Amino acid sequence: MSRRPFIAGNWKMYKTGPQAVETATDLAKLCSGINDPEIMIAPTNLSLPLVAQAIKSSVVKVGAQNLHFQREGAFTGEVSADMIKAAGAEYILIGHSERRQYFGETDTCVCQKIKATLGAGLKPVLCIGETEAQRDEGKTYFILDKQVSDGLKGCGLGELSDLVLAYEPVWAIGTGKTASIDQVGEVHQHLRSLLGRLFSKDLADRTRILYGGSVKPENVKDIMDIEDVDGALVGGASLDADKFIKIIKYNE
Ligand code: PEP
Repeated sequence: MSRRPFIAGNWKMYKTGPQAVETATDLAKLCSGINDPEIMIAPTNLSLPLVAQAIKSSVVKVGAQNLHFQREGAFTGEVSADMIKAAGAEYILIGHSERRQYFGETDTCVCQKIKATLGAGLKPVLCIGETEAQRDEGKTYFILDKQVSDGLKGCGLGELSDLVLAYEPVWAIGTGKTASIDQVGEVHQHLRSLLGRLFSKDLADRTRILYGGSVKPENVKDIMDIEDVDGALVGGASLDADKFIKIIKYNE
């Protein structure tokens, strides 16, 4: 089964609105005419509507980095899936390791966010990954299995057709360390078979599984060539349009 490759940029808490619009506009120009891969950038929620508006006629899609799982209410400082959708996003990153690590997000909370995202008709990018200590203790698959099964608990097969999974070993995010080709290949194959066991072979075959963790122009081709890797979630190297386009054009 062929899956459309997907390169996504997570801009984290970088760039003011005007800076985000400038980079997004530059990137949109550089991406003109590209069909594959699918491209997405996730600016801050504050910049999201500005960016979405600025690049609405380009091939570059926009995503959010986080949401609150309630539709509305007295939740000071939070933003709902409906608000994110109205701002022009198509995707939402959920369960990024920085959210888990610094904001205490549990798998239960991740699951609530997945459901809110699906309920709003948006596409979730479920981020999972083990820490260095968990890998050293041989707990990698235990952790990943729990993050996937608890994060998607109660989701119906029919709801998950747009699910994207992003495997991001925590020890490789922003550190310059990349998981080896063998490590990435083994985990991605494991995750696809897990989706098959939890849901169906068809869903497992259709779901795109991205790798994230210090992806850059120099290593993206080797990563994208790994079987079962369908794309990349890129942090630092997505902040600069000239650098990010080299990742997007990994096949040239
Ligand atoms: C990320 O934030 O999801 C990420 C993978 O960051 P970096 O590419 O900087 O390691």
